[in-house]
Amino acid sequence: MKLIAKYFIILTFLVATQTGFSQVAAPYQVGTWQGFRTCAISYTFDDGCAGQFTKAIPIFDEAGYKLTLFTISSWIKDWTDLKNAALSGHEVANHTDTHPNLTGMAVDKQEAELKTCNDLINLNVTNQQCLTMAYPYCVKGNDALHKKYFIVARGCQGFIEGKTPGDMMNVSSIMCGAVGSVKLVKDFKGKADQAANQKGWLVYLIHGIDNDGGYSPLSSDTLKASLQYLKANDAKFWVSTFGNIGRYVKERNCVSVKETLVSDASISIAVTDTLKKDDWYNFPLTFRRTLPAGWASATITQNGKPVHSSVIEVSSVKYLQFEAVPDGGTVVISKADATGLNDLNDFQKGRNLRVWIDGNSLLFKVPVSCLPYPTLSLFSSNGMLVNSFNHCQIDGGIGKVSLETMRKSEVLLVRLSDNQSTWSSQIFIQK
Ligand SMILES: [Zn+2]
Repeated sequence: MKLIAKYFIILTFLVATQTGFSQVAAPYQVGTWQGFRTCAISYTFDDGCAGQFTKAIPIFDEAGYKLTLFTISSWIKDWTDLKNAALSGHEVANHTDTHPNLTGMAVDKQEAELKTCNDLINLNVTNQQCLTMAYPYCVKGNDALHKKYFIVARGCQGFIEGKTPGDMMNVSSIMCGAVGSVKLVKDFKGKADQAANQKGWLVYLIHGIDNDGGYSPLSSDTLKASLQYLKANDAKFWVSTFGNIGRYVKERNCVSVKETLVSDASISIAVTDTLKKDDWYNFPLTFRRTLPAGWASATITQNGKPVHSSVIEVSSVKYLQFEAVPDGGTVVISKADATGLNDLNDFQKGRNLRVWIDGNSLLFKVPVSCLPYPTLSLFSSNGMLVNSFNHCQIDGGIGKVSLETMRKSEVLLVRLSDNQSTWSSQIFIQK
């Protein structure tokens, strides 16, 4: 009996270790991947081949997806393309300073390779931090050094990782293009489907594009078609940078959710993780909570700011689905139908605001009687607050707010208000 109890304790411990001490219990769930999608896919590009900038980035920008550029810092003469890529949300990451084979190199020389590259990237590309790397020739160097500088690092063992890679400092990737195993559109579709079956993380490794002279060239048409396939199956595939998916995995495996204050109309929760560097681990995880009985909807904020949220139904159970950054401040879930929008029907009837889309911005014609610095709020079609902009900047009677953080296609209800009046409209955004 004692022996059985002992084994049971060991078994429980092993299970806890495997899952990394995540403590997300009912009524909460954390998505294995963002948006509770089935699998994750990263497109990573090495060595700065010309076609990555002239062909790949425009294709990704058009699809609304982000890629990772593993950069050899001593090869960069002009940082403009990398700066612009990062400003569009792509990741600029470390591929060492001079592309040496790290195996067998003295540890201080290895550190100089990693640090010089990080420093040059961070000096020249200032809207992100360089926190991931890819090994030249796919061979690891000193593990402790990699862990000191990086969240996650990439090798190229050729398989699809599971929901948590066995070694975050040697995540497998699959070579694409002429000498790789993934060349044609059907190869990309096959790998993506396989990743979905495994509910895992698929990382592609790409060098040359078309005839740019880069190693193992891949056709830009094939690349484009591969993204169209993922886009057509958006509910299944989460496409994001190597760094963001690496962050998601590590945060998800040690996140805890705890309700700290509960009333009839509001629930406060603490979302925390055990990772020490909050400035590295600042990526939102996706959560679900069963919709409290008697609630129609909710507005959700973290640290006072609206977060992406929606009401969804799975197997006839209604959930609030929302995003929150571990250790990013208190999450407050407030009962809605009254707070966000006074009455959804009234709102949709009285549209008197002129709004339109220009690129990544939403513009609106400011009503003549509107006071300076009004607030513009965006709601989803079921009345959830999506985003709110205080003190809107107005130029020549036209106001403008950014839709950068919006995803997917959705109908938005738009409300403009000053201290005295409100105006409203409805618009369909497509990204
Ligand atoms: Zn390389």
